[in-house]
Amino acid sequence: MNLSQTLDAEAPGTIEADLLISGATVITMDGERRVIEDGAIAVAGDRIAAVGKRRDLEPLVRAARVIDGRRFVATPGFVDAHIHITGDPLTRGFQRGAKEDSWGDKLQKWVIPIFKAQTAPDERLAAQCAALAMIQGGTTCFVEAGTILQLDAVAEGLAETGIRGRIGQWVEGRAYDPSADQAALSREGIAILESEVERYPDAGGEARLAAWPLLVGHSTNSDDIWRAAKAIADDKDLRVSAHMSPRASDPEWFLAKYNRRPLEHLADIGAMGHRVMLTHLANIDRSEFDILVSSGAGAVHCPHAALQGGFGVSKLGLFPEMLDAGINLALGSDGISADILASGRLMASLFRDARADQFIFPATSVLEMATLKGAAAMGLSHLIGSLEAGKKADIVLHDTHLAEWGGPLFDVVEQLAFSAPSRGVHSVWIDGVQVLDVGRAILFDEDALLAAAREAGRAVIARTGLPNRTPWPLI
Ligand SMILES: [Zn+2]
Repeated sequence: MNLSQTLDAEAPGTIEADLLISGATVITMDGERRVIEDGAIAVAGDRIAAVGKRRDLEPLVRAARVIDGRRFVATPGFVDAHIHITGDPLTRGFQRGAKEDSWGDKLQKWVIPIFKAQTAPDERLAAQCAALAMIQGGTTCFVEAGTILQLDAVAEGLAETGIRGRIGQWVEGRAYDPSADQAALSREGIAILESEVERYPDAGGEARLAAWPLLVGHSTNSDDIWRAAKAIADDKDLRVSAHMSPRASDPEWFLAKYNRRPLEHLADIGAMGHRVMLTHLANIDRSEFDILVSSGAGAVHCPHAALQGGFGVSKLGLFPEMLDAGINLALGSDGISADILASGRLMASLFRDARADQFIFPATSVLEMATLKGAAAMGLSHLIGSLEAGKKADIVLHDTHLAEWGGPLFDVVEQLAFSAPSRGVHSVWIDGVQVLDVGRAILFDEDALLAAAREAGRAVIARTGLPNRTPWPLI
């Protein structure tokens, strides 16, 4: 007798549901961090209707569809708290600059020209590719890094993928040239922020896609823009996100300009607070650390970006200390790896070695950062981050019948955080809508998308006229 037949034989239940995932091991991430063996999740509309033991739920739930979850581990969807969804996805392998180029040269002569060579359809495709990669890695919600050029095209493309996210148009309002009109640049930037949050309202977190006042950060935004972004976030209960201090160049710039370090300056101008989340923060000092603690601002660590970018986090990073101090530390991919659990593994491994302490960042912390802390950073804890009745039905099923899981589920959290491959992400629901099945997107044709992306990426590079520099001869 299969599970569907069992349920069909039941008397009318008291919970009407669209879906019942039955028999799975459910990592709830609820207040007690319950892990339910032989558990079940009922979904009605965009919400989780019930979570519990299968034996308790099955008699109560009358579901239109029942999934046998016995080979799966169910988790909340993961949160990527910092990702660039345009640009890189179409031209990832293209080398930006030569070895002898400085970081600034790479940025000005290669990275930015390639970025700006994108058309609206390119950005739309890139965003869809990024969404596909995230969904396939179990990420259901993201915060974009504030580097979108064509917001409307991107929003339209993302809507087709089913992903949850917060996006923002590129706003850069710093008059580096003394002859430029700083006030006019600030006004332009603020107008973009005001317009985007009006066009794509957050609706108290209920909107699947919405715009937030996201800033590129570093030194690129004037004080007026920072203040306006913060005021918009405070007024509408949104979040400001920005890059800050991956390298020493940000502190050096702020010290030269204001005689204050970046977070000191942001605190001075009223731009810190719990509605602000800052990404990287590899080069902060103790005074800035204390500002993070007292302001309630969130921190986002992108381990792949930090390590591949040579930020020096193993020596300078204060991420274990942030966790101890109660700073909300979330994980971001920065667009480099869409696999957020891999980011957590990398972070844990690095700091365990750097501090010669094998107990730093246990599996439980990694999973909390990938779910609850991502949700908290976004101010969406009431809606996502755990599998609990009443929350949004953002659910991931991980297939445990893979060699990497290594036998029985003795410690499912440890096995998921440190052993499970991202290819084990089998099914994903967002807002109660299934977006992935057996590892494949089901709302759109992923093969057609990737083919279009390959073609578009070649065209983007051709428009820049930049040479493709490969380390080995390409013959
Ligand atoms: Zn970034």
